Amino acid sequence: MNGLSIQQAVATQGVSRRDFLKFCSMMAGVLAMPRGYADRIANALAAPRRTPVIWLEFQDCAGNSEALLRSSRPTVSELILDVLSVDYHETIMAAAGEQAEDAKQASIDAGGYLLVVEGSIPTGADGAYCCIAGKSAIQLLEEAASNAVAVIAIGSCAAFGGVPMTSPNPTGAAPVSSFVTDKPVLNLPGCPMNPVNLSATVVHFLTFGELPAMDDLGRPLFAYGSRIHDNCPRRGHFDAGEFTVAWGDEGHRKGWCLYKMGCKGPVTFHNCPAVGYNDNTSWPIKAGHGCIACSEPNFWELGAYNRADLQKFAPPATYAPVQLPTQKVDPATVGAIGAVAGIAVGAAGVAAYKALSKSDEEAPAPPVGNTKK
Ligand code: SF4
Repeated sequence: MNGLSIQQAVATQGVSRRDFLKFCSMMAGVLAMPRGYADRIANALAAPRRTPVIWLEFQDCAGNSEALLRSSRPTVSELILDVLSVDYHETIMAAAGEQAEDAKQASIDAGGYLLVVEGSIPTGADGAYCCIAGKSAIQLLEEAASNAVAVIAIGSCAAFGGVPMTSPNPTGAAPVSSFVTDKPVLNLPGCPMNPVNLSATVVHFLTFGELPAMDDLGRPLFAYGSRIHDNCPRRGHFDAGEFTVAWGDEGHRKGWCLYKMGCKGPVTFHNCPAVGYNDNTSWPIKAGHGCIACSEPNFWELGAYNRADLQKFAPPATYAPVQLPTQKVDPATVGAIGAVAGIAVGAAGVAAYKALSKSDEEAPAPPVGNTKK
């Protein structure tokens, strides 16, 4: 693949010019760019180039590698594995032992590569966990990051510590960003991350020569800029007060809102409703299970079936400061509601809040503000 442009390289895989342009349009869409940017992306990908990648894997289940390799959409796996030239990937590379380590060292010495890290970094037991060739995980990461142009932490374990960092965190797991502080670290959390978002990040890097804009958790805004709840196809049922309250009940069969089953869509920022998983075949809420907030820090601690804290996270426009059950309102809440006075009142939001309040168990207190991190 050396010397070939991405367009030429994917053509060798049987991808037509038409499909290549469709891919560029899709990437522009995922990146939330105007229609005209598809041409700019196509021109950038048509230029001969070879961007090396070093892919390290630490404490994880290899789900992100699996998600990428199982992708069948034309050009996604080709784009990453064939065209970008993955010089080192512990899980899938044919080389082993000194041959593999030599290949990695040659790439590090040459510099100018993207470093992709999958899995959290163990710090316990004096570096015994994930030790390779006598080097601890921290040493391996810092060594590989030294000459990288940018670091992409894929999956929630690399981005935020994920499941390995869950209490009691026996290995002292920590996210990549704890150790790489002298260059950009872009987080692509998710369990697993969505290969479409990795492709879009790489395409952005190749087209514009930089990583996309990020939020304060290091997540690209094109993929993590809005709540799942705000784009959820079941949102109408939430607003109408129509909830699933037991697996397999009438509401579940009819596709009603899953909030009462523990859905974390109201507190989760991810573009699942737009791009789905498995080539947009489905995603958890579409499949009938609530979101588990896998793209948020410490998601495993939230409890898959505990209700999301709407008071903390729901947008104030969703719930109106009128007709609230007075016995639920304390002075602090009233003060906070006053601070957001003037926000448009949605009748549907009132209905949803009333529906939540009147039903079973603990009714959530009225939400008071947008606390997007
Ligand atoms: S609570 Fe979950 S299922 Fe219900 S509308 Fe929000 S994201 Fe969708």
